[in-house]
Amino acid sequence: MNSRESTPLPSAIYEERLARVQATMQARDIDAVLLSVGHDLPYVVGYHAMPLERLTMLVVPREGAATLVIPRLEAPRVVEHPSVFSLLPWNETDDPVALVAQLVRGARNVAVGDQLWARFLVELLPLLPGVTYSRAVDVVGPLRMAKTPFEIEALQRAGAAADRVAAQLQAGEIPLIGRTEAQVSADISARLIAEGHDVVNFAIVAAGENAASPHHHPGARVIRAGEIVLCDFGGTMADYCSDITRCVFLGTPPSDVADAYAVLKEAQAASVASAVIGATCESVDAAARDIIAKAGFGEYFVHRTGHGIGMEAHEEPYIVAGNILPLAHGHAFSIEPGIYIPGRFGMRLEDIVVATADGPLPMNTASHDLVVLA
Ligand code: ZN
Ligand code: ZN
Ligand code: ZN
Repeated sequence: MNSRESTPLPSAIYEERLARVQATMQARDIDAVLLSVGHDLPYVVGYHAMPLERLTMLVVPREGAATLVIPRLEAPRVVEHPSVFSLLPWNETDDPVALVAQLVRGARNVAVGDQLWARFLVELLPLLPGVTYSRAVDVVGPLRMAKTPFEIEALQRAGAAADRVAAQLQAGEIPLIGRTEAQVSADISARLIAEGHDVVNFAIVAAGENAASPHHHPGARVIRAGEIVLCDFGGTMADYCSDITRCVFLGTPPSDVADAYAVLKEAQAASVASAVIGATCESVDAAARDIIAKAGFGEYFVHRTGHGIGMEAHEEPYIVAGNILPLAHGHAFSIEPGIYIPGRFGMRLEDIVVATADGPLPMNTASHDLVVLA
C-alpha cells in the first residue's frame, strides 16, 4: 500500500498489461479474473484498493474492457483509463457482491486474487453455482514476474536510493554506538524517505546476538562497541520496492566473525553470478548454500536465499530449493544468504538482482565488505 499516490502512468502501459492478462486467460480457459486488495489490481489498472470492509473488485472478462466495482466514496481516487476499465461505483445500500456476480454471470472458470477477503468469496460462492475457481496468481503472476524495461528502471531507481542510505551507514554517517536499535531504525527510515522513497517497508537493525534472529524487531537494545550491526531496509518508490542488507562492525572484528563473513561474501557473490537466464531458482539457492555448507555453517543458514521483488517487497519467484522455475529475462529477486549463530552473532548480505540477456544485473552496488567503523 502506498501512502502517497505516485504519478499516473500512461494508459498504454495498462492496455498492454490487460491484453497480456486476457491472452493468458484465453490460453488457460479462464472466463473471468477477480482482483481486489493486493498488488495484482494496481499492476493491471494502476489503482491501489484500500484494505477496507467495503468491496473493491476488478472484474476482468476474457475480452473487452474490465469493470472496477468500487465504493462510491473511493471513486474520486481512481485515475481512469477508459480503454482499460470502466467504473461501477456502488452506494452504501447496494450489494457489491451481487454486482460482481452479475458481471461474471455465465462464466465457468473464474480466477480469484489471493488477497480477496474470505468474507467476499464466501458471499460470492452461492451466487455463482457451478463455477470452478482457481488462483489469479496463475494468470497475473507470470506477467508480474517478468519485468519490462520500464519496471527494471523503477527497481534501479529504488535500489540506488537504498544504496545511498547503505553508503551513509558504511561511511559512519549514521551514529550507532550508544543508540538503541529502534533509534537507528528510525534514522534509516527517515533517510530512505529523504532519498526518494514514498514509504518505508521495514528497517531491521540488529546488534550483536540479536543479529542471529533474521527478522529481529529493533528495540531498546543499546548498540555497543565491539559488535556487528545488521541493517536490512527497504521501501517503495514510485510503486517499486527496494531491499538491501549490509552489516558493519564497530571495531576490529574477531577472527570468527571475519571468517564467517568471508564465507558469506563469497557465497553471495557466487549466487549472484549464477543467476543467469535459464538457471533454475533452486540452483541459485544452491550456489550460495553449498559454499556456506562446505565451510561448516550449513545449519546456520536457516532461510531461503531470496524472494522476488517488484510492486511487492516479497513476490514470485522465490529462490528456494524445490523451485525448478528457470530464470527468464526480467525476473527480479533478492540474493540474501545469511549465517546466524544463536546467542552470538548473525550476518546477512543482500542485493536485488535482475536476470537479463547480458547476465545478472544487480540493483545494489554498495560495498559488500564488512565495513569496520571505529
Ligand atoms: Zn524477509
Ligand atoms: Zn532485506
Ligand atoms: Zn529481502
